[in-house]
Amino acid sequence: MASVELRNVWKIYGGKVQAVVDACWKCNDGEFFSILGPSGCGKSSTLRMIAGLEEITRGEILFDDVVVNKMPPSQRNIAMVFENWALYPNLTVYENIAFPLRVRNLPEKEIDRRVKNAAEFLGLENVLQMGVRRLSGGEMQRVSIGRAIVREPQVLIMDEPISHLDAGLRARMRDELKKQVERLGVTTLYITHDQVESMAMADRIAIMNLGRIQQVGTPLDIYYNPANEFVAGFIGEPPMNFAAAELLQEGDDFVIASPSFRFKLDDICKSNFLQYRGNSKLKLGVRPEDVCVSLTPLPNCFELPVDFVEPQGDRTIISLQMDKDQTFLAQVLGNLRPPVGQMVYVRFDQRHTHFFDVDSGENIFYNR
Ligand code: ADP
Ligand code: MG
Repeated sequence: MASVELRNVWKIYGGKVQAVVDACWKCNDGEFFSILGPSGCGKSSTLRMIAGLEEITRGEILFDDVVVNKMPPSQRNIAMVFENWALYPNLTVYENIAFPLRVRNLPEKEIDRRVKNAAEFLGLENVLQMGVRRLSGGEMQRVSIGRAIVREPQVLIMDEPISHLDAGLRARMRDELKKQVERLGVTTLYITHDQVESMAMADRIAIMNLGRIQQVGTPLDIYYNPANEFVAGFIGEPPMNFAAAELLQEGDDFVIASPSFRFKLDDICKSNFLQYRGNSKLKLGVRPEDVCVSLTPLPNCFELPVDFVEPQGDRTIISLQMDKDQTFLAQVLGNLRPPVGQMVYVRFDQRHTHFFDVDSGENIFYNR
């Protein structure tokens, strides 16, 4: 197993497409590290450079603190699992798993030992002699993992391995994959555009957008302490609400105001702003679960009309009508179902209210 580090890595295609811009991060030995971002943000380009399948335009890639830029892919000892599991349809499960070992001309006994170990590990002993065509999706995925791990790689790379599955199966596979990889303990780079997968599986996540790393952190860190507006909006479902707002000073108090709301900052939030010397125009961000809604007045609250109500059993999603056709979503307990059009009392949980710079989108109080 190995650590994988990127130092100021760039990928520029044809001298102009900047697919990866100055990437810097380190995945520790044995870590489950996810690269997360929308389609086209540079995830696969990053992986291909790590695997040695794509030239590095600039920067260094290190395995266990040794630069591997010039090392051919065959020597990097990386196994990859792709979205289309790319099994050989005419071969048995056994031969699919054995394939990379046959290519390497390993002795038959060693091949047999490793295939059987992998099959036992993945619960495939009973289907080893079956053709892969007859397998379920879950079994096919396990075969593709088996084929990757029999090589005893230093690093396991998975590029959107379950993205094409329907939602129910994806959730099951997610849990199963996580369990298997955890037992293996191998350094894993897991690529996905699905934030739910990253949040559920990864030890740490690197979030990318437009070729740039936005933030590297644990799932909780990224959720509660987003570095910028992109990260804040990309993580979480339903997504974070955003609104333009202004910081006002009224006597000893700080007030956050917009055409739709107005509230006083509590002591903790205020102490942050005491040091603040930036633009008084800000962007406020608050997650639906941090928007409190009540039918009776709350301290430091404001009033908004209900735009629609979506009961979801244990919880209700309430859409609140804001200025200029904008709405804010609130996620509240399922027994609260105010009628559409009713005015309700609203308050943001200030511990989890974020403020972003209107120009750069940076989280003003991001704590590194
Ligand atoms: P992701 O895996 O996050 O969807 P990719 O790394 O595949 O992103 O692509 C990042 C960007 O680089 C995209 O704009 C894509 O069109 C471009 N790109 C990828 N591969 C090539 C290539 N071989 N030649 C030119 N542009 C490419
Ligand atoms: Mg990709």
